[in-house]
Amino acid sequence: MSSQYARHTLNPSLSGCVCIRCTAKLPIGDYFEGCPACLAEGQPSSVVSDFHSLPISVAGSSARGMARYAAWLPYSSWVSLGEGATSCLSFARLAEEVGIERLFIKSEGQNPSGSHKDRVSCLTVTRALDTGATRIVAASSGNGGASLALYAAAAGLACSIVVTPALTPIHHRAITLTGADMIVVEDTMERWALVAKMAQGQDCFPATNYLAPPVGSNHFGVEGLKTVAFELVEDIGPRIDAVLVPTSRGDLVWGLYAGFQQMIAIGSIERMPRLFVVEPFARLSKVLDGAETTESFSGATSLFSIGGSTVTYQAVEAVRRSGGGAVVIDDAAVVRDASRLARHGCYAELSSAATLTGVETLLRQGKIRSDETVALIATSNGYKDMPSGVGLP
Ligand SMILES: [Zn+2]
Repeated sequence: MSSQYARHTLNPSLSGCVCIRCTAKLPIGDYFEGCPACLAEGQPSSVVSDFHSLPISVAGSSARGMARYAAWLPYSSWVSLGEGATSCLSFARLAEEVGIERLFIKSEGQNPSGSHKDRVSCLTVTRALDTGATRIVAASSGNGGASLALYAAAAGLACSIVVTPALTPIHHRAITLTGADMIVVEDTMERWALVAKMAQGQDCFPATNYLAPPVGSNHFGVEGLKTVAFELVEDIGPRIDAVLVPTSRGDLVWGLYAGFQQMIAIGSIERMPRLFVVEPFARLSKVLDGAETTESFSGATSLFSIGGSTVTYQAVEAVRRSGGGAVVIDDAAVVRDASRLARHGCYAELSSAATLTGVETLLRQGKIRSDETVALIATSNGYKDMPSGVGLP
């Protein structure tokens, strides 16, 4: 292995892993299928990093981007393309139009491959290198695959991305330009089955879920999403009342929850912001109303980044523990809101614009108040959408 692709070292404070459902403590490992005990019960559940100790402040770090928070992450350094430090801006005129006192939009489309997934991919490929794997395999609806392919290329790893025919030509190009293999299968379930099979291959590292019902993505990678919470606290200040998150299987909403929890532990914020997942048809909403987490929920949407028929335990828990909720939005309203956002200076993917639709719905429902401080996570760049998208002007 050349020095360019040298392995990175684990954070010396990392003591092991812990299951977010049964709280079992486990040795450091990948747990591609989540906690073994919970899986045996038919309740797949993610594990997270467990640390001996964490720093007491972020003030001492002069590093930029995600590296500023290295002490909170499972690796002390990683294969970096400059991820993190995305803007978090107050859109005063939009806030007035919506009727919320303080409204912020965090533009994750500014990351190297154009989405928040880069905060996951940098750590995932680093972990893959550290285990001696030579190939990343992953299922993707677009943004995750584009991000992993880019980071795998930077890491000198081969990469196979399994997609469905719904993949846009924009993502097709972004993935194949890196030299990654692309495999097209009929639907999401077939996608997972193929990744499961490929994951058995020698030196292959599965970066995403392949179980049905699913767990979150590789947990070393998901830890990177805590940095979205850290940046929100540093940019907005200690008072954040609610955060809206476009959600499919909930890596980001869990990462936000875990990040805010660590900010509470060091006294940077006093209380957990309410986390609201934005979904194109009722999935997590049904679970909050009593459906089983492991059920399959049918529905159609043109918002490719937040499609899919499943939820994960981590998403449900992040919402429940934060006192947040779920909001279902309508595709046609989201198309209008993507245009509204752009007219205020924010060019975001449709699934990101769904947070604007969501916040107005939550206001009407009385679940968010007009005197609160609210952050919308625009997960991906507007250039990711096809101009021929449903109803686009
Ligand atoms: Zn467990």
